Amino acid sequence: MEQIVDLYDCIIIGAGPGGLQAAIYLGRYNRKALLIDRGGGRTHHAKYIENFLTQKEISGKQIIKLGLKQANGFNVKIEKGLVTKVVKKEYFEVATINNLYLSKFVIVSSGVYDNLPNIENLHKFLGISIFTCIDCDGYRTTNKKLIVIGNHIKSVHLAIAMKEMFTKDITLLLYTDKAPEEYKQELEDEHIPLIISKPVKIIGDSKMEAIELHDGRKIECEVIMLHFGYKLNDFFLSEFNLKRDQNGFKFIVNQNYESSISGLYIVGPLNQGNDQVVIAAGEGAVAAIDIKKRLLEH
Ligand SMILES: Cc1cc2nc3c(=O)[nH]c(=O)nc-3n(C[C@H](O)[C@H](O)[C@H](O)COP(=O)(O)OP(=O)(O)OC[C@H]3O[C@@H](n4cnc5c(N)ncnc54)[C@H](O)[C@@H]3O)c2cc1C
Repeated sequence: MEQIVDLYDCIIIGAGPGGLQAAIYLGRYNRKALLIDRGGGRTHHAKYIENFLTQKEISGKQIIKLGLKQANGFNVKIEKGLVTKVVKKEYFEVATINNLYLSKFVIVSSGVYDNLPNIENLHKFLGISIFTCIDCDGYRTTNKKLIVIGNHIKSVHLAIAMKEMFTKDITLLLYTDKAPEEYKQELEDEHIPLIISKPVKIIGDSKMEAIELHDGRKIECEVIMLHFGYKLNDFFLSEFNLKRDQNGFKFIVNQNYESSISGLYIVGPLNQGNDQVVIAAGEGAVAAIDIKKRLLEH
């Protein structure tokens, strides 16, 4: 049974870097802020973050743990829960499975989730030697035996970019029905072998050794870059007809990360910006500063 709990200045949905940074700012304005998180987002799966200022290497889990402690230290209320619906009446109503909360502003920082192919042992190596993002982990493939696996023509461009920056030893494995004729020559010129097939299993105990294809062939590799895109964690926003990009995918926001619904901010990879810890955190800060100004106008 749903019950009204309280009126907040701002409810933040998602305790990734975007939501945590916003929470820290709002807490330090002495605003009444609530952070709701279901646990286990993308940052949680990032084992080695090496591109975050001042951190030689830190895990996503550690960033979240430190961020929650810091936000809590500035009196942000933190609730574990799955947000199921957000609507706007006089105030925003944010529903979780057990509660209903009211808020003047909402920051959505619920992130995205990767489309992952069904390959045996994939999760064992994910984040260690299987990666999904060139900006995050391209560097970790430097001078290693790499297979780029994708289901899209753009995977060809990814393979070529990986070769220019990180490693010459690349095989492109396309999960498509037929070879992309228009790119065959370019791949040949780049000396990137192309295989059209379905991988079924990663071979290796503590270290990745090879990938097995459905016809039994095995291709040696040390690292894999997957290219299957991702989906947005946005189902709870379905009551709004929010503006999206021309593909109907990412949300369109203004320079303060406010969406087409007044008072509803969207930060992190749900909007058209890049998908990085430092960027999500920066966007969370910008949104919180804008909300600070608007609360003063009330
Ligand atoms: C394997 C891997 C490695 C990465 N490496 C790096 C790297 O080295 N450097 C880098 O900058 N970035 C890296 N990233 C990307 C980085 O994690 C994202 O850019 C960053 O997470 C975006 O932050 P966010 O706050 O938008 O979302 P997230 O970190 O995804 O956090 C979203 C949070 O919202 C919660 N949530 C979702 N839906 C709901 C709901 N309905 N109700 C309540 N809570 C909800 C989730 O549980 C999660 O805790 C990596 C990502 C992966 C997967």
